[in-house]
Order: sequence, then structure tokens, then C-alpha cells
Amino acid sequence: MRSTVVGSFPASESSPSNFKDKLLNSFGAYDPFKEAIRSSVTAQLDAGVDIVSDGQVRGDMVSIFTKYIPGMKIEGGNTFIVGKIRNPTQEISIKDLQFAKKVIKEYYGGSIPEGKGVKGIITGPNTIVHSSRVQSFYKNKEDAIIDLAHSLKFEVDAIAKKVKPVYIQIDEPFLSTGMVEMKTAREAIDILKDGLDVPLGMHVCGILKDAFKDISRFNVDILDFEFAGNNVNLGVLKDNASLISGKKIGFGCVDSSVNEVDDINDIENLVTEAIDIVGKDNLILDPDCGLRRAPKDVAFEKLRLMNEIKDKYS
Ligand SMILES: [Zn+2]
Repeated sequence: MRSTVVGSFPASESSPSNFKDKLLNSFGAYDPFKEAIRSSVTAQLDAGVDIVSDGQVRGDMVSIFTKYIPGMKIEGGNTFIVGKIRNPTQEISIKDLQFAKKVIKEYYGGSIPEGKGVKGIITGPNTIVHSSRVQSFYKNKEDAIIDLAHSLKFEVDAIAKKVKPVYIQIDEPFLSTGMVEMKTAREAIDILKDGLDVPLGMHVCGILKDAFKDISRFNVDILDFEFAGNNVNLGVLKDNASLISGKKIGFGCVDSSVNEVDDINDIENLVTEAIDIVGKDNLILDPDCGLRRAPKDVAFEKLRLMNEIKDKYS
């Protein structure tokens, strides 16, 4: 059994304090988020997380990608599709992931142990298009989703080649909403998966009831769902366990929707049920969703307890 995070971790921008940083700042080259990445990665490792994120410290999950994608425009905090969606103008997350990997390497004294490392995270094309407004060019969202999948494929391939992460995760929370056309959604994920030589995961938070059967057929190696914040999904997993054979389950076992530390007995009960359903070798424990909104000490404690249970049953 291994553990991961869904992605975001509480972080704050820093300001230049020493001479070198002040000098960099005067050239516009100071990165106020670098220390946030370092502290978020270190906190995850201290809490016992095996597969860490860079903390997704730079901003919200949609604009962080769309600001580099031609055909998309951000205005007043909203994203609009204003023309043909083309390939990103630059690599988006590579530098942060490489820095996160460097921090992990230093943490372990020079080489990263087997099974540990960083994961790349991309917000999925279905979720980005459904949270944007189509203003021109596209007659329907489905065509925009396919073009965006081709665009994001460049980032996915760059992560695989230049970062060599443990796996790459596509965040598609909209798949549980009933708003997404599943055939197109699957086609979009197939585009991202095509020829990829690292495992691909997909995170879908929310209540799975109606969507689970469709989602289980997606061509991914890991399906990541929430199980702590609602009492529906565990039953759905139990009833449909045969549909996900051959896939690993990212098992949300701490509740990211409350800013309080979970009861360790609740975590343990969930995890033992999950072991019964899919077997411990198929489980990757994580929180239900990102931890951005939790106070830092609460986020840390959630992860620490989760890993205590992981160690008890591994
Ligand atoms: Zn989520």
C-alpha cells in the first residue's frame, strides 16, 4: 500500500528577504512560490507521503493551464474559449516538478527510494471546458474538449519525458456531475494516454453513483475517488468491484471538506473496508481532494494519520 495526495497543499507566497533574492526581484526573476513548493513537498514527506505533489501552489486548477493555451482567455476570474484551441505556448509545470523532485532527492540523501517520488497533475480537458464559457469558434463543447486534449497532451508528454514522475494524474471532477458527455470524455483521456510510458491516473471527486460504471471503463491505470466525505461511494465501489479489476484505486480516506483533523478510527475503518474490497496491493491512500483550504497544521496532521494507518496495514 502506498500513499499520495490529490494535489494542493496550503501555501503562501514569500517575499525576497536576503540580498540574492532582492537582486533577483529587481530583475523580475524572483519566484515567490519556490519556497512554497519546497515547504509543501517537505511537509508531505515528513507526514509519510510516498508520492508527493509540488503542492499546486501557483493558483487555481483551471487558469494555471489556460493562461498558456491559445484560444482561451481569462477575464475577471472566468475562463472563456475565444478561438481555436492550440498547443500551449510553453511548458507549464515542468520546472516546478523538477524542483519538487530535487527537494525529494535531497530529503532522501541523494537518491529517491523505489516507489517514492513526485507525480504530475493536469486538470482534465472535460473539466476545463465545462468550467469555461464558449464564446466563439466552437459550436459545441465536445469539439473544444478534443482540441484541448490534444493541447494538454504536449504537457503530459513533456512531464513523462523530462520529469519521469511515478505517475501522471488527470483531474476530472466534472465527470461525477452528469454534465459531461462520457463518450467524448473517454476519447479525450485516450488522447492523453496514447503512447504514454508512465502510469496514468484520473481523479474524480464527488458522488459516483450514476457515473461509476462509465468511469470504470476509462483507459487509465489508477482511478482516484473520495470515500471519507460521503457515505455513498464505498457502497458503489463494493457493488462494482469487478468493473475495476486491473486498475489501482486512489482511495480518499480523509475528508478534505472539513478543516478538522479526522478521527483515526474513521480512517482505519475505511481503509480496512477498502482492503477487503480491492486488496491492499491495489490501494493508494490519499485525501478526498486537495488540501488547499485547510490550515497547514491540520493538513499535515490529516496526512500523518493517513500514513500511520498505511504503515499499520502495509
Ligand atoms: Zn477533487
